[in-house]
Amino acid sequence: MSRVYNFSAGPSCLPEEVLNECAAEMLDYKGTGQSVMEMSHRSKAYEPIIEDAEAMVRKLMNVPENYKVLFVQGGGSTQFAMVAENLGLTFKKAAYIETGVWAKKAAAEAKKLGIAVDVIASSKDKNYSYIPRVEKITGDYDYAYICYNNTIMGTHYEYIPDTGNIPLVADISSCVLSEPLDVSKFGLLFAGAQKNLAPAGVTLVIIREDLIPEPENCLPGTPTMLAYKTHSENGSMYNTPPCYTIYVLGKVLHWIEKNGGAEGMLRRNKEKADYLYNFLDKSDFYHATTEKGSRSLMNVPFLTKYSTGASDEASLAKEKEINDKFVKEAAAAGLVNLKGHRLVGGMRASIYNAMTLDGVKALVTFMEKFAKENA
Ligand SMILES: *Cc1c(COP(=O)(O)O)cnc(C)c1O
Repeated sequence: MSRVYNFSAGPSCLPEEVLNECAAEMLDYKGTGQSVMEMSHRSKAYEPIIEDAEAMVRKLMNVPENYKVLFVQGGGSTQFAMVAENLGLTFKKAAYIETGVWAKKAAAEAKKLGIAVDVIASSKDKNYSYIPRVEKITGDYDYAYICYNNTIMGTHYEYIPDTGNIPLVADISSCVLSEPLDVSKFGLLFAGAQKNLAPAGVTLVIIREDLIPEPENCLPGTPTMLAYKTHSENGSMYNTPPCYTIYVLGKVLHWIEKNGGAEGMLRRNKEKADYLYNFLDKSDFYHATTEKGSRSLMNVPFLTKYSTGASDEASLAKEKEINDKFVKEAAAAGLVNLKGHRLVGGMRASIYNAMTLDGVKALVTFMEKFAKENA
């Protein structure tokens, strides 16, 4: 067996111990003679699996009693609409901080549903390479919205805006459980699972109970499946949940607990990210694209010295050639999925919880060698 170091932005690598456990239980889960994939979600064997997953989210994230933990489908992208349909009810107005693609998509979806979107701050002026500082948000807003870790741009909030009584909504898809987070500061948190928690297919939603409207009070035309109440009233079992994904999620949460919980993940993630950023900051061949003070521990985009910003054909061709060469040679060395997002260019290393320090060291070793050969 030969496993690679997978730097994909998502779906992304999972802890090997978890994959091994899943493999061992694949054909016969705990003497049931079935795989978890094949089980009824209402069976005696399955119920403890989803109950344990919820209990582990509550424990590891220290979720207060007055919050519901939901498992829904449709990915992070469906939350862009659900947030507006369930929370945008009184003023039909919301504040968004624009920090890149995912925040923009969320704002666009709210607008489409008739919400007046106020973009109260943006980092567009520098291609979203930093997080704007917004200390306080006030106004007639039903909610304020942030994307806490910007997967594509590689930025992360190092503060939580004070919104007073305005519920704060945060997309934590690419940083959930990578660090401790004070859930009580938020009205709603959501995370598509495929970056830090599980395979694709489930989205974790943590919502303060008093923010969940009756389905008939949601924006007109809100489908039953898009009302949070539908899921909160039914223990995330209104319809068939993504059973197997939730099972893997539970295993990943136990793995996180064994490795020190959210604090343990932060230590591990800081060590990896520091190793990579320190290398980038010292290099005269590579540089990080994000500003200090806004850098993600999870997603690290970087460029080479051939990315000069010049837009003449020869410069662009040279840049593309060196990026393609990097990605290709890295893959041949067992370091895969390093191609950058087209909006940033260059390369991007996503180093989620499951990525090891050994993986990051292997990447840096490769980068040193590549820099020498292409200087
Ligand atoms: C990946 C991602 C999304 C989109 O998630 P899907 O599950 O593909 O819909 C949304 N927000 C952030 C921050 C992401 O990283």
